[in-house]
Amino acid sequence: MEAFEKNIRRVDPYVPGEQPRQKAVKLNTNENPYPPAPGVAKALREMDPADLRLYPDPACTGLVEALADFHHVGKDQVFTGVGSDEVLALCFLTFFNSGKPILFPDITYSFYKVWAQLYRIPFETPALDADFRIVKEDYYKENGGVIFPNPNAPTAIYEGLDFVEDILCHNRDVIVIVDEAYIDYAGPSAVELIGSYDNLLVTQTFSKARSLAGMRIGYAIGSPKLIRCLHDVKYSFNSYTLNRAALACGEASVRDRAYFEETIAKIRRTRSRAMERLAGLGFSFTESSANFIFASHPDCDAKEMFRALREAGIYVRYWDSDRIRDYIRITVGTDEEMEKLFAFLEEYMAKGDKRTC
Ligand SMILES: *Cc1c(COP(=O)(O)O)cnc(C)c1O
Repeated sequence: MEAFEKNIRRVDPYVPGEQPRQKAVKLNTNENPYPPAPGVAKALREMDPADLRLYPDPACTGLVEALADFHHVGKDQVFTGVGSDEVLALCFLTFFNSGKPILFPDITYSFYKVWAQLYRIPFETPALDADFRIVKEDYYKENGGVIFPNPNAPTAIYEGLDFVEDILCHNRDVIVIVDEAYIDYAGPSAVELIGSYDNLLVTQTFSKARSLAGMRIGYAIGSPKLIRCLHDVKYSFNSYTLNRAALACGEASVRDRAYFEETIAKIRRTRSRAMERLAGLGFSFTESSANFIFASHPDCDAKEMFRALREAGIYVRYWDSDRIRDYIRITVGTDEEMEKLFAFLEEYMAKGDKRTC
């Protein structure tokens, strides 16, 4: 090792799902198969390239106002960023500085561990129970902060607000972040609790239910004090995070509630049909409250199945890690995409002798 290497910050990075270059049935990164709201296309058409000379609005005023209206909170309770990944990364930097271990589940969004390592924040990962549920009592001990997704990923399990509130009640002295990337497919949002807990921060994204993964927009909602702290850190790092196109598209998306609700309803319908079909094929899975299904088959090696699917141009997600290596995660696509998946699986199951099925 060269002398200069010993002072380089090294980290094992997050590994995002594959973005295939050729045409594929893409059920691997929980994007929305439907296009964004029609107002988004209009906002892009109406953009004047001449305006790109100018920096974007650092306060993201239009987008923040739309989000504040949508969620019935104050404008001073909304913080926006380049995807919820950036928002969460800034949250870790801003809020988890006590030196005590922060807590998040052993099976969860794998980026949490990466940020903790990047910022050298100690962490503990209480195990999900045998049914992949978060054990709330594990979060009652002294800690440096708490973060968990609701619904959790990749388990797709949603816990109600009573559960979230129990964790909040036992963590009055630290920041609790609820990552609601999939909340639109689930139940009530912890945004309802913001008024009662000024140490609560809820993050959401435009990448899933709003069909805007390519625009990179995310946000946090919390007490004005927490939002101010996030702004101070952001302005100490990069004042202009969201670009002009993202601001225009994001605002147009939020202003069209009808389209948003319609798309979510479509995904939920396809999700229930998909759960029936998977059960018929002998899969078992957790009750999904997200736009993906976390499934395993008693007779099939999940890794082999993942590979065979990929060869057939059907992309799902697989992790070769403890406790979940028997599972694949399938994003809910359009009905046609799901048909392709089921047609493949039916055939795959039928010629069982050729594989580890
Ligand atoms: C997709 C996802 C994110 C990140 O979303 P972006 O807004 O695209 O950065 C964060 N948390 C969870 C649990 C996710 O699944």
